Amino acid sequence: MLRMSTLFVRTLRDDPADAELPSHRLLVRAGYVRRAAPGIYSWLPLGHRVLRNVERVVREEMDAIGAQEVHFPALLPREPYEASNRWTEYGDNIFRLKDRKGADYLLGPTHEEMFTLLVKDLCSSYKDLPLFLYQIQTKYRDEPRPRAGILRGREFVMKDSYSFDISDEAFAVSYAAHRDAYVRIFERLGLRYVVVKAMSGAMGGSASEEFLAVAPNGEDTYARSLGGYAANVEAVRVVAPEPLPYDDAPAAHVEETPDTPTIETLVAVANAKLPRDDRRWTAADTLKNVLVVLRHPGGQRETVAIGLPGDREVDLKRLQAQVEPAEVEPFTEDDFAVHPGLVKGYLGPQALGTESATGVRYLVDPRVVAGTRWVTGANEHGRHVFDLVAGRDFTPDGVIEAAEVRAGDPAPDGSGPLQLARGTEMGHIFQLGRRFADALGLQVLDQNGRLVTVTMGSYGVGVSRAVAAIIETSHDERGIVWPREVAPADVHLVATGKDPAVLAAAERIAAGLADAGVEVLFDDRPKVSPGVKFTDAELIGVPTIVVIGRNLAEGVVEVRDRASGDRQDVPVDDAVVRVAAVVRG
Ligand code: ATP
Ligand code: MG
Repeated sequence: MLRMSTLFVRTLRDDPADAELPSHRLLVRAGYVRRAAPGIYSWLPLGHRVLRNVERVVREEMDAIGAQEVHFPALLPREPYEASNRWTEYGDNIFRLKDRKGADYLLGPTHEEMFTLLVKDLCSSYKDLPLFLYQIQTKYRDEPRPRAGILRGREFVMKDSYSFDISDEAFAVSYAAHRDAYVRIFERLGLRYVVVKAMSGAMGGSASEEFLAVAPNGEDTYARSLGGYAANVEAVRVVAPEPLPYDDAPAAHVEETPDTPTIETLVAVANAKLPRDDRRWTAADTLKNVLVVLRHPGGQRETVAIGLPGDREVDLKRLQAQVEPAEVEPFTEDDFAVHPGLVKGYLGPQALGTESATGVRYLVDPRVVAGTRWVTGANEHGRHVFDLVAGRDFTPDGVIEAAEVRAGDPAPDGSGPLQLARGTEMGHIFQLGRRFADALGLQVLDQNGRLVTVTMGSYGVGVSRAVAAIIETSHDERGIVWPREVAPADVHLVATGKDPAVLAAAERIAAGLADAGVEVLFDDRPKVSPGVKFTDAELIGVPTIVVIGRNLAEGVVEVRDRASGDRQDVPVDDAVVRVAAVVRG
């Protein structure tokens, strides 16, 4: 039993100044966590109990699919990460350190390498597979933008598991088992979630899905159609239209378009000075060329130009997902200074491409297919070129999915128009394929005695993030509303007033509930007003609140449901049995 009189907690009346999201505000105010450094938090007793409850749910569901729990160090040697190239690829995102002898170490951001090596040590035959291993571990990532308390921390708790299989067919079974386990985990955690197609990022592999908690303030955007398509916008593939014939297209011609450095000004001038007969020019007729810099893991900076229809913006997250492990940086005035061939505001395809004078790699949106005709920069100040035909007048170096996805765009699978919504990534399951097994030499003998490289899957759940995400889904203006499965206690028992009979009855009921296996948070503070106790109870968010006070004279106690606010009076003599029944559902 937890007693408020001695519990190591202090609830706060005011929101912390740095907290924007409800979960962050409430976790701090209700005394669940305290900030230690940016993106680094300490767990107080109530918070630690919730964290352990989330871990229990995850552990039970992983155990249920036959995964075996292990525990790796967080402090890891450089060499395995060097072998997989991630020592470099992770760039600034990992915490690196040196021991007293000057040897390099890192704090594990994720553990593929270590698992691969351990399995290599212990397994040698197809008979050892399939194998599922998992851990619930503290991870370290020097996130560029730690955010919203524990939602995006630099130290956080993750469940990571890995599957090891002899073939792609066997992998598909392991993947499906994990997917089912994830569905059960997120159901039990009481999250409103969607499963969406995802990018596999730096990891390679093809099967990749994310579990996103639906959250209007989430960092991820996903697209779905009524016909059942669902994908993180990072993973949406634009369907390229068929190439168009261009035999009849007039030759490209350069026109004076003074003061048109933006798409808007260009369209206005084109309509005023060079009107079409059939309709007005629109932004969609223009080809916009956007310069960015890719910083590659080794540190080298590469300028890249992205061509896309002028009515669309570049979506930086989509672009970032495409170029990983490189990082996208802005193309600055200084960069223009060293590239005199790139005319700001009037950039056109003829000056772009690895074959061109500038040598800048030129990647275009999938909609820029051969035969499409564009109005675009002429690479001279104040001039644009019209009727520039893709495939005739320019040939890009490749295609890139960097344009924003918009509501109403067609789903790639033809299942109808897309709708957009936001979410927070809670879990990611994906096929690693043989990347790590190849890099680290994980092979086993198959039935025919031949050495084969093992096929792996990687599966993560944000355990500490889940604590915050659950609150994002489940709170009201008064505080947290925990789903029973993860609540820090089953019952919050509030004794009000100073009457010794009330306190004695409350003690009896608390003890009776504890004996019945119910976890009780007992507000036994003698000198605290009922108002403060109720406010605290609603802030802390235990699902059932039992009030023992004035009604005791009539032989009843009050049982409140935190979520619905429903109240019922229960005879004091039945209180233990009745409350225990509520708790067991
Ligand atoms: P994100 O896109 O949110 O940065 P990620 O793609 O880096 O996530 P993974 O490497 O797949 O995430 O990690 C597995 C899970 O760990 C994620 O689904 C998420 O729930 C959780 N997670 C990742 N980064 C953090 C973080 N900085 N703080 C808390 N949880 C995190
Ligand atoms: Mg991340």
